[in-house]
Amino acid sequence: MYQRVVVKIGTSVLTAGTPHLDHPHMVELVRQCAALHRQGKDVIICTSGAIAVGRARMGFPDLPPTLNHKQMLAAVGQSRLMQLWERYFEIYGLHVGQILLTRADVQNRRRYLNGRDTLLTLLEHRIVPVINENDAVATEEIKVGDNDNLSALVATLAEADLLILLTDQPGLFTADPRRHPDAQLIPEVDKIDETLKSLAGGSISGLGVGGMATKLQAADVARRAGADVIIAAGHAPNVITRAVAGESVGTRFPALKTPLENRKKWIYAGRKAAGCVVIDAGAVAALCADGRSLLPAGITAVTGHFERGDTICIQGADGRELARGIVRYSSHDLAHIAGLHSDQIVERLGYAYGPVAVHRNDMILL
Ligand code: GLU
Repeated sequence: MYQRVVVKIGTSVLTAGTPHLDHPHMVELVRQCAALHRQGKDVIICTSGAIAVGRARMGFPDLPPTLNHKQMLAAVGQSRLMQLWERYFEIYGLHVGQILLTRADVQNRRRYLNGRDTLLTLLEHRIVPVINENDAVATEEIKVGDNDNLSALVATLAEADLLILLTDQPGLFTADPRRHPDAQLIPEVDKIDETLKSLAGGSISGLGVGGMATKLQAADVARRAGADVIIAAGHAPNVITRAVAGESVGTRFPALKTPLENRKKWIYAGRKAAGCVVIDAGAVAALCADGRSLLPAGITAVTGHFERGDTICIQGADGRELARGIVRYSSHDLAHIAGLHSDQIVERLGYAYGPVAVHRNDMILL
């Protein structure tokens, strides 16, 4: 039923909640991936665990929690992690190829397309890409930050039709199952709204970075790119092969019927909003009902610091994010021309980059 699958394996799955890797379970996950590979499907692994593995490898040293130390642990752990994936896939006669990404690698359209080509070439040659964030060099500014969002980016790049987020929970529940024993598993989610986000809360596991909140963000990105998303327990029997066969496991988020066009997928998956503009009711109608571009005249406030070409979020007066897009003026310029008719831009700034603040071709309505 699915042809190209990204399997995101969280630290909690790799370690089964202990400080050490669960090797037999890693082999079991690889066995399932190899079975899919034999059926002619493309499998991409997005692995966490570099920092946790580095820490274990070095005998749990007592280190200050600085970026440098985390990067050191990631460097040690990543090579160990990769060595293990390589060894376990080799049991099934499969080659793996490592790709380490940061957000900076996909922020620019050319680098994004280049990353996509590498990924697709590996798949073409029947190699299993094993992907992680490049934690050894990534700093906060250039990081994706969690592997849920990273895997959504990978699913977008690879044009996958399924993203499986494996975690230590069976899926998304109507309430936190550890505090509410009567909480129910939600088998399918059609709409990711505020109520659902409030159910997800923050991070829940000890070693990894993400939680249900980042999983919902990832689901939102991947389904707009055309992939179904499943959140499921990494230890459930045959979870990967069953998910790919279309059986009901965990919580499923069906892909949106009309996925974003390629350029917009990139804007949504690859780039972080550097700031925001608030727009008035007239502009909301122009964008949302008429599909028009955003003009400076409709902007009532500018927050954050951004440059021309950055991605920004566009909010209504109530603070709700309505759209995201690539802005044609810096935050500094926009603060000066907000509320003005486009004819007055040159007069005010001494120059102009055209009449629109965010062109509709560069904009995704949410
Ligand atoms: N990239 C991180 C690591 O390998 C994991 C991030 C996450 O857990 O989401 O340690």
